[in-house]
Amino acid sequence: MLLRHTPDEVVERQALAINPAKTCQPIGAMYAALGIHRCLPHSHGSQGCCAYHRSTLTRHYREPVMAGTSSFTEGSSVFGGQANLIQAIHNIFTIYNPDVIAVHTTCLSETIGDDIPQIASKAADEGRIPAGKYVIHANTPSFVGSHVTGFSNMTRAMADYFATPDTHREHRINIIPGYVEPSDMAEIKRIAGELGIPATVFPDTSNVLNAPQTGRFEMFPKGGVTIQELLRTGAAIGTIALGETASGAAARALDARCKVPCEILDLPIGLHATDTFIDHLRKMGGVPVPDSLNIERGQLLDVMADMHQYFYGKKVGLVGDPDQLIVLAEFLVSIDMWPIHIVTGTPGKKFEKRIREITRSVPHPVNVRGAGDMFLFHQWLRNDPVDLLMGNTYLKYIARDEDIPFVRLGFPILDRVGHSYMPTVGYRGGLRLLEKILDAILDRIDRDAPEESFELVM
Ligand code: SF4
Repeated sequence: MLLRHTPDEVVERQALAINPAKTCQPIGAMYAALGIHRCLPHSHGSQGCCAYHRSTLTRHYREPVMAGTSSFTEGSSVFGGQANLIQAIHNIFTIYNPDVIAVHTTCLSETIGDDIPQIASKAADEGRIPAGKYVIHANTPSFVGSHVTGFSNMTRAMADYFATPDTHREHRINIIPGYVEPSDMAEIKRIAGELGIPATVFPDTSNVLNAPQTGRFEMFPKGGVTIQELLRTGAAIGTIALGETASGAAARALDARCKVPCEILDLPIGLHATDTFIDHLRKMGGVPVPDSLNIERGQLLDVMADMHQYFYGKKVGLVGDPDQLIVLAEFLVSIDMWPIHIVTGTPGKKFEKRIREITRSVPHPVNVRGAGDMFLFHQWLRNDPVDLLMGNTYLKYIARDEDIPFVRLGFPILDRVGHSYMPTVGYRGGLRLLEKILDAILDRIDRDAPEESFELVM
Protein backbone atom coordinates (compact mmCIF):
# COMPACT_ATOMS: atom_id res chain seq x y z
CA MET A 1 0.00 0.00 0.00
CA LEU A 2 2.83 2.36 -0.88
CA LEU A 3 0.62 4.72 -2.90
CA ARG A 4 -2.53 4.38 -0.77
CA HIS A 5 -2.83 8.17 -0.41
CA THR A 6 -3.47 8.72 -4.13
CA PRO A 7 -6.90 10.40 -4.21
CA ASP A 8 -9.61 9.40 -6.68
CA GLU A 9 -10.51 12.97 -7.52
CA VAL A 10 -8.58 14.18 -10.58
CA VAL A 11 -7.40 17.79 -10.34
CA GLU A 12 -5.73 19.32 -13.40
CA ARG A 13 -2.15 20.42 -12.63
CA GLN A 14 -0.06 22.81 -14.73
CA ALA A 15 3.29 23.13 -12.98
CA LEU A 16 3.75 19.94 -10.97
CA ALA A 17 4.61 16.38 -12.05
CA ILE A 18 4.14 13.60 -9.50
CA ASN A 19 5.73 10.21 -10.13
CA PRO A 20 7.01 11.14 -13.63
CA ALA A 21 6.61 8.77 -16.54
CA LYS A 22 10.03 9.60 -18.02
CA THR A 23 13.64 10.10 -17.08
CA CYS A 24 16.27 12.67 -18.06
CA GLN A 25 17.64 13.50 -21.51
CA PRO A 26 21.33 12.56 -20.98
CA ILE A 27 20.39 8.94 -20.18
CA GLY A 28 19.02 8.56 -23.71
CA ALA A 29 22.00 10.40 -25.20
CA MET A 30 24.41 8.13 -23.31
CA TYR A 31 22.52 5.02 -24.45
CA ALA A 32 22.62 6.15 -28.10
CA ALA A 33 26.34 7.00 -27.89
CA LEU A 34 27.10 3.49 -26.61
CA GLY A 35 25.73 2.28 -29.95
CA ILE A 36 28.84 3.59 -31.76
CA HIS A 37 31.75 1.16 -31.77
CA ARG A 38 34.69 2.40 -29.64
CA CYS A 39 32.78 5.46 -28.42
CA LEU A 40 33.11 6.87 -24.92
CA PRO A 41 30.06 8.93 -23.91
CA HIS A 42 30.95 12.04 -21.95
CA SER A 43 28.67 13.93 -19.58
CA HIS A 44 29.42 17.66 -19.51
CA GLY A 45 28.25 18.54 -16.03
CA SER A 46 28.63 17.44 -12.44
CA GLN A 47 29.74 13.99 -11.31
CA GLY A 48 26.36 13.36 -9.71
CA CYS A 49 24.49 13.57 -13.01
CA CYS A 50 26.92 11.18 -14.70
CA ALA A 51 26.75 8.73 -11.80
CA TYR A 52 22.94 8.70 -11.99
CA HIS A 53 22.88 8.18 -15.76
CA ARG A 54 25.46 5.40 -15.67
CA SER A 55 23.83 3.62 -12.75
CA THR A 56 20.36 3.71 -14.37
CA LEU A 57 21.75 2.20 -17.58
CA THR A 58 23.78 -0.36 -15.62
CA ARG A 59 20.75 -1.41 -13.57
CA HIS A 60 18.59 -1.79 -16.68
CA TYR A 61 21.12 -3.61 -18.88
CA ARG A 62 23.12 -5.36 -16.13
CA GLU A 63 26.34 -4.37 -17.91
CA PRO A 64 29.10 -1.97 -16.83
CA VAL A 65 28.45 1.38 -18.54
CA MET A 66 31.55 3.46 -19.21
CA ALA A 67 31.32 7.26 -19.50
CA GLY A 68 33.44 10.31 -18.74
CA THR A 69 32.36 13.42 -16.86
CA SER A 70 33.58 17.02 -16.86
CA SER A 71 33.26 16.88 -13.04
CA PHE A 72 32.07 20.43 -12.52
CA THR A 73 33.18 22.13 -9.33
CA GLU A 74 31.82 25.34 -7.81
CA GLY A 75 34.24 27.28 -10.04
CA SER A 76 33.10 25.69 -13.31
CA SER A 77 29.49 26.11 -12.22
CA VAL A 78 30.08 29.87 -12.12
CA PHE A 79 32.63 30.45 -14.89
CA GLY A 80 31.71 27.62 -17.30
CA GLY A 81 33.15 24.20 -17.98
CA GLN A 82 35.51 24.90 -20.89
CA ALA A 83 38.74 24.10 -19.05
CA ASN A 84 37.23 20.90 -17.59
CA LEU A 85 36.04 19.64 -20.96
CA ILE A 86 39.33 20.34 -22.74
CA GLN A 87 41.22 18.55 -19.96
CA ALA A 88 38.72 15.66 -20.12
CA ILE A 89 39.13 15.29 -23.90
CA HIS A 90 42.90 15.18 -23.47
CA ASN A 91 42.74 12.65 -20.62
CA ILE A 92 40.21 10.38 -22.34
CA PHE A 93 42.11 10.12 -25.63
CA THR A 94 45.41 9.65 -23.77
CA ILE A 95 44.21 6.99 -21.34
CA TYR A 96 41.30 5.15 -23.00
CA ASN A 97 41.95 5.84 -26.70
CA PRO A 98 38.35 5.71 -28.01
CA ASP A 99 37.64 6.48 -31.69
CA VAL A 100 35.06 9.09 -30.70
CA ILE A 101 33.96 11.00 -27.62
CA ALA A 102 30.22 11.77 -27.65
CA VAL A 103 29.61 14.77 -25.39
CA HIS A 104 26.15 15.48 -24.04
CA THR A 105 25.22 18.39 -21.83
CA THR A 106 23.31 18.42 -18.54
CA CYS A 107 20.93 20.88 -16.86
CA LEU A 108 23.86 22.70 -15.27
CA SER A 109 26.02 23.22 -18.37
CA GLU A 110 22.92 24.16 -20.36
CA THR A 111 21.95 26.76 -17.76
CA ILE A 112 25.46 28.21 -17.91
CA GLY A 113 25.25 28.14 -21.71
CA ASP A 114 28.49 26.31 -22.51
CA ASP A 115 29.11 26.21 -26.28
CA ILE A 116 30.31 22.64 -26.91
CA PRO A 117 31.31 23.03 -30.61
CA GLN A 118 33.42 26.08 -29.68
CA ILE A 119 35.10 24.16 -26.82
CA ALA A 120 35.74 21.13 -29.06
CA SER A 121 37.20 23.40 -31.73
CA LYS A 122 39.51 24.97 -29.14
CA ALA A 123 40.56 21.47 -28.03
CA ALA A 124 41.33 20.61 -31.67
CA ASP A 125 43.33 23.84 -32.11
CA GLU A 126 45.34 22.94 -29.02
CA GLY A 127 46.09 19.49 -30.50
CA ARG A 128 44.05 17.61 -27.88
CA ILE A 129 42.11 15.58 -30.47
CA PRO A 130 44.44 13.04 -32.17
CA ALA A 131 44.29 12.61 -35.97
CA GLY A 132 41.47 10.32 -37.08
CA LYS A 133 39.59 10.75 -33.79
CA TYR A 134 36.32 12.61 -33.31
CA VAL A 135 34.42 14.64 -30.73
CA ILE A 136 30.68 14.91 -31.41
CA HIS A 137 28.05 16.53 -29.25
CA ALA A 138 24.33 16.82 -28.51
CA ASN A 139 22.58 19.41 -26.38
CA THR A 140 20.46 17.55 -23.83
CA PRO A 141 18.91 19.99 -21.34
CA SER A 142 16.84 17.85 -19.03
CA PHE A 143 14.42 20.59 -18.07
CA VAL A 144 12.74 19.89 -21.43
CA GLY A 145 11.99 16.59 -23.15
CA SER A 146 12.89 13.18 -21.77
CA HIS A 147 15.34 10.31 -22.22
CA VAL A 148 13.74 9.75 -25.65
CA THR A 149 14.53 13.35 -26.68
CA GLY A 150 18.13 12.82 -25.55
CA PHE A 151 18.36 9.63 -27.61
CA SER A 152 16.93 11.48 -30.61
CA ASN A 153 19.37 14.39 -30.22
CA MET A 154 22.44 12.14 -30.02
CA THR A 155 21.27 9.99 -32.94
CA ARG A 156 20.77 13.13 -34.99
CA ALA A 157 24.31 14.22 -34.01
CA MET A 158 25.62 11.00 -35.64
CA ALA A 159 24.02 12.07 -38.92
CA ASP A 160 25.12 15.70 -38.55
CA TYR A 161 28.75 14.90 -37.76
CA PHE A 162 29.44 11.85 -39.91
CA ALA A 163 27.08 11.52 -42.89
CA THR A 164 29.00 12.58 -45.98
CA PRO A 165 27.17 13.52 -49.20
CA ASP A 166 27.98 11.14 -52.05
CA THR A 167 26.33 11.02 -55.47
CA HIS A 168 27.59 7.47 -56.01
CA ARG A 169 24.86 5.41 -54.30
CA GLU A 170 25.65 2.08 -52.65
CA HIS A 171 23.03 -0.69 -52.49
CA ARG A 172 22.65 -0.22 -48.75
CA ILE A 173 19.85 1.00 -46.47
CA ASN A 174 20.23 2.98 -43.26
CA ILE A 175 17.98 1.81 -40.45
CA ILE A 176 17.53 4.02 -37.40
CA PRO A 177 16.06 1.57 -34.89
CA GLY A 178 14.63 3.92 -32.25
CA TYR A 179 14.91 3.74 -28.47
CA VAL A 180 14.68 -0.04 -28.21
CA GLU A 181 16.58 -2.82 -26.48
CA PRO A 182 19.91 -4.19 -27.81
CA SER A 183 17.99 -7.41 -28.56
CA ASP A 184 15.57 -5.41 -30.72
CA MET A 185 18.42 -3.82 -32.67
CA ALA A 186 19.84 -7.30 -33.30
CA GLU A 187 16.41 -8.52 -34.43
CA ILE A 188 16.01 -5.58 -36.81
CA LYS A 189 19.39 -6.44 -38.35
CA ARG A 190 18.39 -10.12 -38.57
CA ILE A 191 15.17 -9.26 -40.42
CA ALA A 192 17.09 -7.08 -42.92
CA GLY A 193 19.55 -9.97 -43.28
CA GLU A 194 16.71 -12.44 -43.97
CA LEU A 195 15.65 -10.17 -46.83
CA GLY A 196 19.26 -10.04 -48.03
CA ILE A 197 19.48 -6.26 -47.72
CA PRO A 198 22.82 -4.72 -46.63
CA ALA A 199 21.88 -2.37 -43.78
CA THR A 200 23.66 0.11 -41.54
CA VAL A 201 21.84 0.22 -38.22
CA PHE A 202 22.65 3.27 -36.11
CA PRO A 203 22.92 3.49 -33.21
CA ASP A 204 23.42 -0.22 -32.54
CA THR A 205 23.81 -1.27 -28.92
CA SER A 206 23.57 -5.01 -29.64
CA ASN A 207 26.70 -6.81 -28.49
CA VAL A 208 27.53 -3.74 -26.38
CA LEU A 209 24.87 -3.77 -23.66
CA ASN A 210 24.01 -7.45 -24.00
CA ALA A 211 27.53 -8.68 -24.66
CA PRO A 212 28.44 -12.26 -23.73
CA GLN A 213 30.34 -13.09 -20.55
CA THR A 214 33.88 -13.94 -21.63
CA GLY A 215 35.64 -13.57 -18.31
CA ARG A 216 37.55 -10.54 -19.62
CA PHE A 217 36.53 -6.89 -19.26
CA GLU A 218 36.33 -5.06 -22.60
CA MET A 219 36.40 -1.28 -22.38
CA PHE A 220 34.92 -1.18 -25.88
CA PRO A 221 32.85 -4.31 -26.66
CA LYS A 222 32.65 -5.72 -30.19
CA GLY A 223 29.24 -4.27 -31.11
CA GLY A 224 28.20 -0.84 -32.30
CA VAL A 225 28.09 0.93 -35.65
CA THR A 226 31.60 1.86 -36.80
CA ILE A 227 32.74 5.34 -37.76
CA GLN A 228 33.41 4.05 -41.31
CA GLU A 229 29.81 2.86 -41.57
CA LEU A 230 28.50 6.19 -40.27
CA LEU A 231 30.62 8.10 -42.78
CA ARG A 232 28.96 6.07 -45.57
CA THR A 233 25.36 6.63 -44.45
CA GLY A 234 25.20 9.55 -46.90
CA ALA A 235 25.69 7.16 -49.83
CA ALA A 236 22.80 4.82 -48.95
CA ILE A 237 19.79 4.40 -51.25
CA GLY A 238 17.42 5.27 -48.43
CA THR A 239 16.79 5.48 -44.70
CA ILE A 240 14.09 3.77 -42.68
CA ALA A 241 13.55 5.47 -39.33
CA LEU A 242 11.59 3.53 -36.71
CA GLY A 243 9.63 5.73 -34.30
CA GLU A 244 8.99 9.39 -35.06
CA THR A 245 10.01 10.68 -31.61
CA ALA A 246 13.34 8.86 -31.33
CA SER A 247 14.42 8.52 -34.97
CA GLY A 248 12.61 11.10 -37.10
CA ALA A 249 15.08 13.97 -36.53
CA ALA A 250 18.14 11.93 -37.58
CA ALA A 251 16.41 10.63 -40.72
CA ARG A 252 15.37 14.12 -41.78
CA ALA A 253 18.89 15.47 -41.06
CA LEU A 254 20.38 12.77 -43.32
CA ASP A 255 17.90 13.61 -46.04
CA ALA A 256 18.58 17.34 -45.82
CA ARG A 257 22.35 16.91 -45.69
CA CYS A 258 22.94 14.05 -48.14
CA LYS A 259 19.67 13.75 -50.08
CA VAL A 260 19.09 10.23 -48.76
CA PRO A 261 15.29 9.75 -48.97
CA CYS A 262 13.70 8.59 -45.73
CA GLU A 263 10.61 6.75 -44.60
CA ILE A 264 9.61 7.37 -41.00
CA LEU A 265 7.62 4.38 -39.74
CA ASP A 266 6.28 3.13 -36.44
CA LEU A 267 8.41 0.72 -34.43
CA PRO A 268 7.85 -2.80 -35.82
CA ILE A 269 5.99 -4.06 -32.74
CA GLY A 270 2.97 -6.28 -33.43
CA LEU A 271 1.68 -7.78 -36.67
CA HIS A 272 0.65 -4.69 -38.61
CA ALA A 273 3.68 -2.52 -37.81
CA THR A 274 6.05 -5.41 -38.60
CA ASP A 275 4.24 -5.99 -41.92
CA THR A 276 4.73 -2.30 -42.73
CA PHE A 277 8.43 -2.39 -41.84
CA ILE A 278 9.10 -5.48 -43.93
CA ASP A 279 7.08 -4.10 -46.83
CA HIS A 280 9.17 -0.90 -46.86
CA LEU A 281 12.39 -2.90 -46.65
CA ARG A 282 11.18 -5.04 -49.56
CA LYS A 283 10.32 -2.05 -51.73
CA MET A 284 13.41 -0.01 -50.89
CA GLY A 285 15.75 -2.97 -51.37
CA GLY A 286 13.92 -4.33 -54.45
CA VAL A 287 13.78 -7.86 -52.99
CA PRO A 288 11.06 -10.47 -52.33
CA VAL A 289 10.02 -11.47 -48.80
CA PRO A 290 11.56 -14.88 -48.02
CA ASP A 291 9.56 -17.85 -46.75
CA SER A 292 11.41 -17.73 -43.44
CA LEU A 293 9.70 -14.42 -42.55
CA ASN A 294 6.31 -15.59 -43.85
CA ILE A 295 6.56 -18.60 -41.53
CA GLU A 296 7.32 -16.36 -38.54
CA ARG A 297 4.35 -14.17 -39.47
CA GLY A 298 2.06 -17.19 -39.68
CA GLN A 299 3.20 -18.40 -36.25
CA LEU A 300 2.35 -15.05 -34.68
CA LEU A 301 -1.03 -15.04 -36.38
CA ASP A 302 -1.68 -18.56 -35.13
CA VAL A 303 -1.15 -17.64 -31.47
CA MET A 304 -3.27 -14.50 -31.89
CA ALA A 305 -6.13 -16.63 -33.17
CA ASP A 306 -5.67 -19.56 -30.74
CA MET A 307 -5.70 -17.41 -27.62
CA HIS A 308 -8.16 -14.72 -28.70
CA GLN A 309 -10.74 -15.76 -26.11
CA TYR A 310 -8.39 -14.63 -23.33
CA PHE A 311 -7.55 -11.30 -24.96
CA TYR A 312 -11.06 -10.24 -25.89
CA GLY A 313 -12.41 -7.28 -23.96
CA LYS A 314 -9.57 -7.12 -21.42
CA LYS A 315 -8.95 -3.55 -20.30
CA VAL A 316 -5.29 -2.45 -20.26
CA GLY A 317 -3.40 0.51 -18.77
CA LEU A 318 -0.15 1.55 -20.49
CA VAL A 319 2.72 3.77 -19.35
CA GLY A 320 5.88 4.29 -21.40
CA ASP A 321 7.55 6.04 -24.30
CA PRO A 322 5.46 7.43 -27.16
CA ASP A 323 6.93 5.37 -30.01
CA GLN A 324 6.36 2.12 -28.09
CA LEU A 325 2.90 3.06 -26.80
CA ILE A 326 1.57 3.91 -30.26
CA VAL A 327 2.35 0.47 -31.68
CA LEU A 328 1.57 -1.37 -28.48
CA ALA A 329 -1.91 0.19 -28.40
CA GLU A 330 -2.34 -0.74 -32.07
CA PHE A 331 -1.28 -4.34 -31.38
CA LEU A 332 -3.61 -4.64 -28.40
CA VAL A 333 -6.56 -3.26 -30.36
CA SER A 334 -5.79 -5.76 -33.15
CA ILE A 335 -6.29 -8.66 -30.69
CA ASP A 336 -9.45 -7.07 -29.27
CA MET A 337 -7.93 -5.88 -26.02
CA TRP A 338 -8.95 -2.41 -24.83
CA PRO A 339 -6.14 -0.01 -23.95
CA ILE A 340 -8.12 2.57 -21.96
CA HIS A 341 -5.56 4.51 -19.86
CA ILE A 342 -2.39 5.57 -21.70
CA VAL A 343 0.28 7.94 -20.38
CA THR A 344 3.70 8.99 -21.60
CA GLY A 345 5.92 11.51 -19.84
CA THR A 346 7.57 12.56 -23.10
CA PRO A 347 6.07 15.74 -24.56
CA GLY A 348 4.94 15.59 -28.20
CA LYS A 349 2.09 17.13 -30.12
CA LYS A 350 1.04 14.14 -32.20
CA PHE A 351 0.96 11.44 -29.51
CA GLU A 352 -2.55 11.98 -28.18
CA LYS A 353 -3.98 12.33 -31.69
CA ARG A 354 -2.39 9.06 -32.87
CA ILE A 355 -3.65 7.15 -29.82
CA ARG A 356 -7.16 8.56 -30.31
CA GLU A 357 -7.14 7.34 -33.92
CA ILE A 358 -5.84 3.89 -32.97
CA THR A 359 -8.34 3.38 -30.15
CA ARG A 360 -11.34 4.74 -32.07
CA SER A 361 -12.88 1.26 -32.29
CA VAL A 362 -12.48 0.52 -28.56
CA PRO A 363 -16.02 0.34 -27.09
CA HIS A 364 -15.04 2.08 -23.86
CA PRO A 365 -13.93 5.64 -22.91
CA VAL A 366 -10.16 6.06 -23.44
CA ASN A 367 -7.92 8.36 -21.38
CA VAL A 368 -4.68 9.45 -23.03
CA ARG A 369 -2.08 12.01 -21.95
CA GLY A 370 1.24 13.13 -23.43
CA ALA A 371 3.60 14.81 -20.94
CA GLY A 372 1.55 13.17 -18.18
CA ASP A 373 2.61 11.37 -15.00
CA MET A 374 1.89 8.14 -13.12
CA PHE A 375 -0.05 9.92 -10.39
CA LEU A 376 -2.71 10.91 -12.92
CA PHE A 377 -2.55 7.40 -14.41
CA HIS A 378 -3.16 5.91 -10.96
CA GLN A 379 -6.16 8.20 -10.43
CA TRP A 380 -7.68 7.10 -13.74
CA LEU A 381 -7.17 3.47 -12.68
CA ARG A 382 -8.89 3.98 -9.37
CA ASN A 383 -11.91 5.43 -11.14
CA ASP A 384 -11.97 2.85 -13.94
CA PRO A 385 -9.97 -0.32 -13.11
CA VAL A 386 -8.19 -2.44 -15.72
CA ASP A 387 -7.31 -6.13 -16.11
CA LEU A 388 -3.65 -5.64 -17.04
CA LEU A 389 -0.90 -3.06 -16.65
CA MET A 390 2.07 -2.70 -19.00
CA GLY A 391 5.00 -0.38 -18.43
CA ASN A 392 8.37 0.11 -16.78
CA THR A 393 9.42 -1.00 -13.31
CA TYR A 394 8.07 2.11 -11.58
CA LEU A 395 4.56 0.87 -12.36
CA LYS A 396 5.00 -2.07 -9.97
CA TYR A 397 3.95 0.06 -7.01
CA ILE A 398 0.58 0.83 -8.60
CA ALA A 399 0.20 -2.79 -9.77
CA ARG A 400 0.75 -4.02 -6.21
CA ASP A 401 -1.53 -1.48 -4.59
CA GLU A 402 -4.38 -2.12 -7.00
CA ASP A 403 -3.67 -5.89 -7.31
CA ILE A 404 -3.50 -5.86 -11.12
CA PRO A 405 -1.43 -8.27 -13.28
CA PHE A 406 1.63 -6.46 -14.60
CA VAL A 407 3.82 -6.93 -17.69
CA ARG A 408 7.15 -5.13 -17.59
CA LEU A 409 7.98 -3.37 -20.83
CA GLY A 410 9.96 -0.27 -21.79
CA PHE A 411 12.61 1.67 -19.91
CA PRO A 412 13.78 1.33 -17.23
CA ILE A 413 13.28 -2.25 -16.06
CA LEU A 414 15.30 -2.50 -12.88
CA ASP A 415 13.90 -5.64 -11.29
CA ARG A 416 13.81 -8.28 -14.05
CA VAL A 417 16.19 -9.58 -16.70
CA GLY A 418 15.73 -10.93 -20.23
CA HIS A 419 14.63 -7.75 -21.96
CA SER A 420 18.09 -6.98 -23.34
CA TYR A 421 18.45 -10.50 -24.79
CA MET A 422 14.98 -11.20 -26.17
CA PRO A 423 13.30 -8.83 -28.63
CA THR A 424 9.77 -7.48 -28.73
CA VAL A 425 10.10 -6.17 -32.32
CA GLY A 426 9.31 -8.25 -35.38
CA TYR A 427 7.08 -11.32 -35.56
CA ARG A 428 9.24 -13.18 -33.05
CA GLY A 429 9.05 -10.21 -30.72
CA GLY A 430 5.28 -10.18 -31.14
CA LEU A 431 5.19 -13.81 -30.02
CA ARG A 432 7.20 -12.95 -26.94
CA LEU A 433 4.85 -10.07 -26.13
CA LEU A 434 1.82 -12.32 -26.46
CA GLU A 435 3.48 -14.91 -24.22
CA LYS A 436 4.11 -12.28 -21.54
CA ILE A 437 0.56 -10.92 -21.77
CA LEU A 438 -0.97 -14.40 -21.69
CA ASP A 439 1.20 -15.52 -18.77
CA ALA A 440 0.02 -12.54 -16.73
CA ILE A 441 -3.65 -13.03 -17.60
CA LEU A 442 -3.68 -16.83 -17.21
CA ASP A 443 -1.69 -16.74 -13.95
CA ARG A 444 -4.37 -14.44 -12.55
CA ILE A 445 -7.19 -16.69 -13.77
CA ASP A 446 -5.42 -19.67 -12.10
CA ARG A 447 -4.90 -17.74 -8.88
CA ASP A 448 -8.51 -16.66 -8.60
CA ALA A 449 -10.22 -19.80 -9.92
CA PRO A 450 -12.35 -21.78 -7.44
CA GLU A 451 -11.25 -25.44 -7.15
CA GLU A 452 -14.08 -26.79 -9.30
CA SER A 453 -12.99 -24.66 -12.29
CA PHE A 454 -9.21 -24.76 -11.82
CA GLU A 455 -8.34 -25.98 -15.33
CA LEU A 456 -5.40 -28.13 -16.43
CA VAL A 457 -5.76 -27.13 -20.08
CA MET A 458 -6.41 -23.49 -20.92
S1 SF4 B 1 17.70 16.07 -14.53
FE1 SF4 B 1 19.44 17.46 -14.97
S2 SF4 B 1 20.45 17.73 -12.96
FE2 SF4 B 1 19.15 15.89 -12.82
S3 SF4 B 1 20.49 14.16 -13.34
FE3 SF4 B 1 19.45 14.81 -15.23
S4 SF4 B 1 20.88 16.24 -16.19
FE4 SF4 B 1 21.52 16.03 -14.04
